Amino acid sequence: MTHELVAICDACKQTIADGDGSLWVDMAEIEQATTNERAWEQLEAEQPERGVLTFSGESLQSYPDPAHWRVHQHSCDPAPNANSHAIEIHRCRSWADLVWWTAHLLGKAWLPRTDWDELLQEAAEAGQTRITPVTSPTLHR
Ligand SMILES: [Zn+2]
Repeated sequence: MTHELVAICDACKQTIADGDGSLWVDMAEIEQATTNERAWEQLEAEQPERGVLTFSGESLQSYPDPAHWRVHQHSCDPAPNANSHAIEIHRCRSWADLVWWTAHLLGKAWLPRTDWDELLQEAAEAGQTRITPVTSPTLHR
């Protein structure tokens, strides 16, 4: 069976075979991103209007980085003992898989503190990083 999606190891740039790696995010990095965002909000928030925080366009440029989803072969994983949320690569082989995982992850309060949105966009644009399609898909933009 041919796969629609391949995973590219962050470390060695090789495609990852089934059972040989995972897509993962470090929970400590999510905690840090959450702390950074709260600090940023306190620093940059303008006078709340009717309880809604507003931010200037300029301040948005210093918005803290989200936690980064990583892709590694088990043998290349720089932090195999990290407390992570991991998806085995063999469970992320089709567009339907990616949609299913997205639906699953949307139930996690911490998802917006990660760059899952960028991972999806890279995949849709066949970016040749992390999760990328074998055949460039049609993208209606
Ligand atoms: Zn590798």
